[in-house]
Amino acid sequence: MMDLRELYQDIILDHSRHPRNARAIAQPSHFAHGHNPLCGDRVTIYLALEGDRIADVSFEGRGCAISTASASLMTEILKGKSIAEAETLFRSFHAKVTGGEAPAAPESLEDDLDRLEPLTGVKAFPVRVKCATLPWHALEAALKSGALGATVKTE
Ligand code: ZN
Repeated sequence: MMDLRELYQDIILDHSRHPRNARAIAQPSHFAHGHNPLCGDRVTIYLALEGDRIADVSFEGRGCAISTASASLMTEILKGKSIAEAETLFRSFHAKVTGGEAPAAPESLEDDLDRLEPLTGVKAFPVRVKCATLPWHALEAALKSGALGATVKTE
């Protein structure tokens, strides 16, 4: 039987070594910088929205394996999603890693939440939780600030 922890570790290593969507978007409709001073992670999230749908999403940054893997997985999952779906995914993921009450997510998002499962191991390490949630906080800030950009700090 495959050890689930090992499988999760492999997924995180794969995404941190070969991050998906690690590029800028030339004229993003929304973007924001995120900084996690505790670990030194920095990430910029770029979005190209068409109506309320995420036509493209990408990131650039330098950080630990967890923050890079989280940004990579997040961008993979968010492409094609509506803003409302992105908000639901963020709230569910945040609850999972902080041990909070997860809001009921629609069945259509279950596969996406399963894909984020490898990152939920950070729950046991409070310092690492900020690494995993940094890209999502930057996403939130980007959605609020639009093309003007913003900077969000985890604290
Ligand atoms: Zn980190």
